[in-house]
Amino acid sequence: MLLYILLLSLTVGLAVRYVYRACQEDEENKEKCFERLRSLETPADQDVVLLDPESALWHGKAAYVQKRLEQLVQLIRQRKEGAHLIVPIRVGVAKSSLFYTTLAWAKRLRGLIVISDRHLYHPLAEIDNALAHELAHLLTPNESKSHGVRWEMTYHILCRALKAADRGNIQSVT
Ligand SMILES: [Zn+2]
Repeated sequence: MLLYILLLSLTVGLAVRYVYRACQEDEENKEKCFERLRSLETPADQDVVLLDPESALWHGKAAYVQKRLEQLVQLIRQRKEGAHLIVPIRVGVAKSSLFYTTLAWAKRLRGLIVISDRHLYHPLAEIDNALAHELAHLLTPNESKSHGVRWEMTYHILCRALKAADRGNIQSVT
């Protein structure tokens, strides 16, 4: 019985340590990515700039992410929500471990988005949701609650906008 308890606590201890390390590494990768985004060259004529678009971490989705965000920026420009948007939006991808639960992050006042590379394995509809989610944060930088009423409204507008863009009429979103 004593041996059993010893073995069990050893296993649990190792598992906790492993998860803790993985989380720490992910956090470091994310922060490094934000750091690099801050110093990324931003051409004035572009709405969306990707960090290392050739990187394998994009899992072939770099062009897709760029296109989707450009479509959204185009729509936002036609609406009053655009007042808070800083362009170009700079987007990077960070390597993340198996244990990742967070999908993407935004630095609200700087127009930066970092996506977890694992999230790019998800279906395109889920990538769309993550982009709309983070972009909605960039558009509501002063909201005290991070997923407050304005954020919620903006997020739904953006999700609808992407669906409308697929139907070929981005202008029709209200
Ligand atoms: Zn959020």
